Amino acid sequence: MERLLTIEEALAQVLARVRTLPAERVPLAAAAGRVLAEDGRAAVDLPPFPSSAMDGFAVRAADLPGRLPVVYRIAAGRPAPRPLEPGEAMEISTGGVVPEGADAVVQVELVEQAGDSVSTEATIRSGQNVRVRGGDTHAGDVVVPAGTRLGPAQLGALAAAGAAEVAVGRRPRAIVLTTGTELRSPGEPLAPGEIYESNGLTLEAQLRSAGADVERLAAVVDTEEAHREAIARGLDADVFVTTGGVSVGPHDLVRRIEQELGVEEVFWRIALRPGKPVAFGTRGDTLVFGLPGNPVSSLVGFELFVRPAVNALQGLREPAPRLLPGRLARDVRRNPARVQLVRASTDLRGDDVLLDPLTGQDSHMIVRSAAADALVVVPTGDGSLPAGSPARYLPLA
Ligand code: AMP
Ligand code: MG
Repeated sequence: MERLLTIEEALAQVLARVRTLPAERVPLAAAAGRVLAEDGRAAVDLPPFPSSAMDGFAVRAADLPGRLPVVYRIAAGRPAPRPLEPGEAMEISTGGVVPEGADAVVQVELVEQAGDSVSTEATIRSGQNVRVRGGDTHAGDVVVPAGTRLGPAQLGALAAAGAAEVAVGRRPRAIVLTTGTELRSPGEPLAPGEIYESNGLTLEAQLRSAGADVERLAAVVDTEEAHREAIARGLDADVFVTTGGVSVGPHDLVRRIEQELGVEEVFWRIALRPGKPVAFGTRGDTLVFGLPGNPVSSLVGFELFVRPAVNALQGLREPAPRLLPGRLARDVRRNPARVQLVRASTDLRGDDVLLDPLTGQDSHMIVRSAAADALVVVPTGDGSLPAGSPARYLPLA
């Protein structure tokens, strides 16, 4: 029997064929969820000036404890017109510019105010409650490195450091095609033998969450002509994803028609359950994924192979799925030949993530899968993994 590729081998073959898409410059406000193509650098020191960490009074630490005249009131965005002289205090708000001559801020809670003077028993260190200029970053320093996907915290950091525009990887263009004469859209009546098409919508959502622009073609019937026309359109994309028609049945046309249209197949079938008949090939720079039709297999195949490829097209530094540690809540039967991805729900128990496999693991049971928030990796082997065994899992968004 031929030896099937492992998940890792298959993923390595996919990633080896990805060519990162060219970068484009976009305003920072349009960069959420995009992947930085160049290091994002600070335009200014941050903070750009010594600023107060507290509401209080700017002073010379050496002048405390004691009573000091308040010679000016500094608001945020309005620096004092002159330096602070020895023996003086200036009122200051959080974020206000600490005046030259002052080396500390005594917080308002520690002072007594009387008219235009302020007194305190407190002693204070030089530098106390003063945020030094450049304490967070310096102009020219890397704020967010290339290859990072920009989430809320990264966008905030770049904005604070004065970046107006960033270079990001172009969004991959993805096309989704579902195949099968039996497929109907929700809302249409079902004739005998028909089912509702669900992979298209799932894949569209998965692709968008990975950062792609997505076009969905109408589902095609299992004829060569219908496949040929739709596949020819799909091959214009950066990523073309089909479902169904990649097994060994007489109506499984996808691989044959793709080959006819110039797709070079890299692999077909992986030692994986569900999702064994995954196919992958390329035509030029287009990445071509043939996922199985069973909805759970399609969902799993996407997470293992397509999402990493879409990540890599955008230039993400670590495109591969990131597995997390957990523990099995029950015994799980192993498969001697194929790694299983078991749908499970997670629960936090002490410091452990407990992984509870759902009942109903068959690859057509997409409704059961809706309760899962984890794909647990069950390595090949004999017998069962007992409850409590450590296991790695892929979180499902
Ligand atoms: P196939 O891989 O084409 O043999 O399909 C395997 C199983 O998945 C069959 O039961 C199909 O009816 C079902 N299936 C295929 N495509 C879809 C789809 N887009 N949505 C829901 N079920 C599908
Ligand atoms: Mg089919």
